Amino acid sequence: MEKLIMLKYGELSTKKDNIGLFLKKLKENILKILTNDEKVYFDKGRMFILSKDIDNTIEKVRNVFGIHELIIAYKIETDYEYLKETIKELIKEVNFKTFKVVTKRSDKDYPKTSMEISKEVGAVVLKNTSNVKVDVNNPEVTINIEVRRDAIYIYFDRISGLGGYPVGTLGKGLLMLSGGIDSPVSGYLAMKRGIKIESIYFESPPHTSIETKEKVLSLAKILKTYNIEMKVHIINLTKIQEAIYKNIPNEYLITILRRMMYRISAIVASQNNCKVLINGESIGQVASQTLTSMRVINEVVNIPVIRPVACFDKLEIIALAKKINTYETSILPYEDCCTIFVPKHPVINPLKEKCEEYEKLIPYKELIYEAVKNHEVIKIEEENKYQDLL
Ligand code: ATP
Ligand code: MG
Repeated sequence: MEKLIMLKYGELSTKKDNIGLFLKKLKENILKILTNDEKVYFDKGRMFILSKDIDNTIEKVRNVFGIHELIIAYKIETDYEYLKETIKELIKEVNFKTFKVVTKRSDKDYPKTSMEISKEVGAVVLKNTSNVKVDVNNPEVTINIEVRRDAIYIYFDRISGLGGYPVGTLGKGLLMLSGGIDSPVSGYLAMKRGIKIESIYFESPPHTSIETKEKVLSLAKILKTYNIEMKVHIINLTKIQEAIYKNIPNEYLITILRRMMYRISAIVASQNNCKVLINGESIGQVASQTLTSMRVINEVVNIPVIRPVACFDKLEIIALAKKINTYETSILPYEDCCTIFVPKHPVINPLKEKCEEYEKLIPYKELIYEAVKNHEVIKIEEENKYQDLL
C-alpha cells in the first residue's frame, strides 16, 4: 500500500480541446514549488504526487490555482480480497458513527460492479465496527474507492483547492500593487483566471518611506505563493510628483498623477510582455474612481485594464483579503504616493481637455522616460538581498 496525494482538476476538465496545455502548465507550476524528493505523474483525469512528507507537500500545493481538490489516497493492487483487508485496516484509524461507500470504476473489465463493491465493502465495515450505521445522505465519513486498470485508490477526506486556471495559461499581466487592501485582492482574482502577474509599485521617497516599500514587498511575497514566482518593478515617482504638485491646480493633482502612473505602467507592461494592466480600482470608492475619472485616466493608454474588484463593495474585498492572507499586512499603517499630497477637493468629473492643458506645464515625457529607465526590479526569492526587508 502506498500513501500519496491525488489532485482533481474540476473546472479544468471542461477545457476539452486545450486541456493538454492547461495540465502541462499545472504540472510545470507544481514542479517549480516541489523538491527532488517529491514526484508528480499523470493518470487519465488525475494527477498524483508522491512525497515522504505528505502534509508539508499539501501545504505547498494547496495554493496552486487549477486544482479543485486535494486528496490523500491509498494506492493498492487491484486484488479484491486485498481491497477488503485494506479497508478493515484503514477504518481502525478513523473515528465515525455513520458512513457510506462510493465506488467509481473506470476499469469496466473489473470482475465486480461499482454497486457490488460498495455493498460488499459496506458489509465489511459494518462487521468490523460496533455502533456504526450506513447513512447515504449525510454520512460522517465517505469511503471512496476508485477502481482503475492498474490500481485501486481508497480515500476518505477531500481538501478543497482554490480552483481557477493554472497561472500562466492566459499569459501575463502587470498588477499595480499599492500597500492597500484592494490591489492584492485584485491580483489574486486575476491569477485565479490564469493570468500570471508581475507587479509595479510607485514610490516617492522621501515622501514615502522604506517601511511602505517593505510592506509592498511583503504583499508581493504573499502573492507569490499563488503566482509561483514574483517580480516587482519599483518606479521612483518623486520628480514627477513634485513637478505636478508645483505646477498643476490642486483639484487635478490626483487625476494627473494617476494618468502618469497609467502611462508608466503601460510602458513597463509592454517591455515585459504583459498583455493587460490590473489594478484595485473600485467604482465610486474615491474621487479618482468615479466613472468620469476612470475614463479620463484610462484614456492615456491603449492596453486593456482589468479591475477585478470594480463592482465589489469594501466588505466583500476585505473578506477576500482575509481569506488570501493579505489583510493583516495591508492594514499596517503606510503612506501612499496617492495619499501624501491629497487635495482637499479633488475633481470628481475631470475634463480631458483640462488634463491635457495642465500636462503641457510639465515635461512629463522626459520625466517618464527617466523614471522607467532607472527603475529597480526586485525578484522575490526565498532568499535574496531584500530578505531582511521581508
Ligand atoms: P488599494 O486599492 O490597494 O487598497 P488604495 O485603495 O489606497 O489601495 P487607491 O488610491 O484607491 O488605492 O488606488 C487605486 C489603485 O491604483 C490601487 O488599487 C492600485 O492598483 C493602484 N495604485 C495606487 N497607488 C499605487 C502605487 N503607489 N503603486 C502602484 N499602484 C498603485
Ligand atoms: Mg482602493
